[in-house]
Amino acid sequence: MLLFTPGPTPVPENVRQAMAAVSMHHRTPEFEAIFKATRKRLLELFATDEVVMLAATGTGAMEAAVSNLCHHTLLYVNAGKFGERFGHIATAVGLERVELRYEWDTPASVDDVMAALHANRDIDAVAIQICESAGGLRHPVETIAAAVKAFNPEITVIADGITAIGVERIDVSHIDCVIAGSQKALMLPPGLAMLGLSNAAVVKIGAGKGYYFNLASEIQKQRQNTTAYTAATTLVVGLLEVLETIERYGGAGKLYCDTARRAKAVRFALEAIGLHSYPTMPAKAMTTIDDVDAAAIRTLLKEDFGVNVAGGQDHLKGKIFRINQMGLIPLHETVWVVNSIELSLALLGRRPYDGTASRTFNEEYFKNKLVPKET
Ligand SMILES: *Cc1c(COP(=O)(O)O)cnc(C)c1O
Repeated sequence: MLLFTPGPTPVPENVRQAMAAVSMHHRTPEFEAIFKATRKRLLELFATDEVVMLAATGTGAMEAAVSNLCHHTLLYVNAGKFGERFGHIATAVGLERVELRYEWDTPASVDDVMAALHANRDIDAVAIQICESAGGLRHPVETIAAAVKAFNPEITVIADGITAIGVERIDVSHIDCVIAGSQKALMLPPGLAMLGLSNAAVVKIGAGKGYYFNLASEIQKQRQNTTAYTAATTLVVGLLEVLETIERYGGAGKLYCDTARRAKAVRFALEAIGLHSYPTMPAKAMTTIDDVDAAAIRTLLKEDFGVNVAGGQDHLKGKIFRINQMGLIPLHETVWVVNSIELSLALLGRRPYDGTASRTFNEEYFKNKLVPKET
């Protein structure tokens, strides 16, 4: 079965092998050397001043960011399940909250964010997804962050990059905290979360909040290449292998470029067979299709063609399907996915099979190679 869900994503063979080595004790020079090397590579990937790894899923990092970096009122964008979660976290940790709500296909607007900031002077942090995975939607986070900072540089910008870090280059100039999780673009099993922090964020954290998710104690320890509590040693070993694998592949730049090409080619291929891309601003992490037959297509993909794609949640249950674009995906697998979707439409009697999807994918993906050579 091909795992094509936008998290968890497949773990490469060499990464699984690296994690199969005998367990290490975390308070040893051997593990500290691995931790140090991982930290160095993470700082490069995030391009932030500081980075922290937590033994938690992505939601743990969201909670750590909100509780340590918002001291009064959180403005958050809710255009899907994960944006909504920021609101639940704010309430759970005893903060005031202001919600900006959108339909799941609609990106947040700078004007709405600015209007909310003008209307509520107690807002001291803004939280938003870079890619809202519920609908495969890309928010204009960099533009929003720049506007927030121009309005008041003291307001902290928290960006959930769980399906963006490792997918595309994020300009963090105006972002104070960017969050990543192991099981999405970083091609690992779930259980490790990461936060990239600006120097201003580290200052605002001060003595930190909470106990396990106290970022001050983690920053202090992790600067010495150790952790406040037992490190997720196996996942850190795996993360170093992932980051080295990306480097051997040609670096993050090549990964971002290939991901963008592949995501665009998949969208073109599916549009060519009459399907519709759901978000008005699609993220590169996944291709999201809304369709009356979404549930039937997903079942056929799984049962007849061995492809596992994700569905939708809440009001989008049975109405969309989401195809992963994160990680180092072998091209032949993606070609099989678009081909299987075309076959599924034929089985549903929607259109006769003629190979349009895989042909369009190949033509778009290889368009620079397929131009006729000058003689
Ligand atoms: C998956 C995801 C999360 C939550 O991560 P968990 O690891 O399930 O806690 C948060 N935000 C986004 C955008 C995600 O895609």
